[in-house]
Amino acid sequence: MSDYWPYDEEAIYQDADILQAQYEMEARQLSAARRAGRCQHSSVVGVSASGEILYPEQEGLKRGQMRCTEHTNGCAELFESQEDWDAARDEALYG
Ligand SMILES: [Zn+2]
Repeated sequence: MSDYWPYDEEAIYQDADILQAQYEMEARQLSAARRAGRCQHSSVVGVSASGEILYPEQEGLKRGQMRCTEHTNGCAELFESQEDWDAARDEALYG
């Protein structure tokens, strides 16, 4: 530490290294799941603010609902809410 930079640089670098390792682990899990044909529901589309249909996955959606656009193994799963989608992603990633 110095008078000019009152932060513990070693700790900052260590935190960054830990985060980087976590991101790399998640990327490896995502890649392995896709190769195995398990959808991680990593992207979704919901109803646009105007209600205009911009993507085919938006057809038939009600406000608040979202549909998977990752499409691994043909997935088009419908999620009722953000919480529903979060839970499905956690289940797919961590089991
Ligand atoms: Zn999916």
